[in-house]
Amino acid sequence: MKSSTKIILFISISSLLILIFQKQIKSILKEKLGGYKWFDESLKWYRDEKTKTIIYNLHPSIIYDFKEFLSRVEKEIGLQIIATSGYRTWAEQANLHKQNKQNASAGNSDHNYGFALDINALDKSGKNILMKATSKQKWQESGLVDIAKNMGFKWGGDFQSYHDPVHFYKQPLSTSEMKAKYLAGNKNINGYINLT
Ligand SMILES: [Zn+2]
Repeated sequence: MKSSTKIILFISISSLLILIFQKQIKSILKEKLGGYKWFDESLKWYRDEKTKTIIYNLHPSIIYDFKEFLSRVEKEIGLQIIATSGYRTWAEQANLHKQNKQNASAGNSDHNYGFALDINALDKSGKNILMKATSKQKWQESGLVDIAKNMGFKWGGDFQSYHDPVHFYKQPLSTSEMKAKYLAGNKNINGYINLT
């Protein structure tokens, strides 16, 4: 075989392989470069202004993880997550506690530090199929909880004393450690606690 033929053959095969594995290569590159694996701006959850606002008001260190979670759920199981609550001030938390004593008191919820998100989920027709009153079993059968846990999130559906399946969270520190930092004024100008 002539060497020019070999080169052409090599280029053709390489191009073909790149074409076939385009998606995989893209996702590996994205990950290596610190980009998103699942998120893209065309997703329905991202086009919902309320959800987007709630996500972007979470603690800056957790926004990436939640964006990936919502995106993965939509791409893998076709459910559109809508956020109902994220970061809450202590005053807002105190109000919720007043309404229902099962809600944590001010400063004692991961929501007060921007590390918890409450969600519902819509099916392809836009019907809300996962909400607070929905059974734990239905939440689990949807596949959403498995995705969350696989990504390192904890789930309010596992609480022993309180049915809170809408609640997903990650804790870089325990709630009381976060509270201590907050009370010590160890937070940035936007009120988010410093983790370092
Ligand atoms: Zn919650």
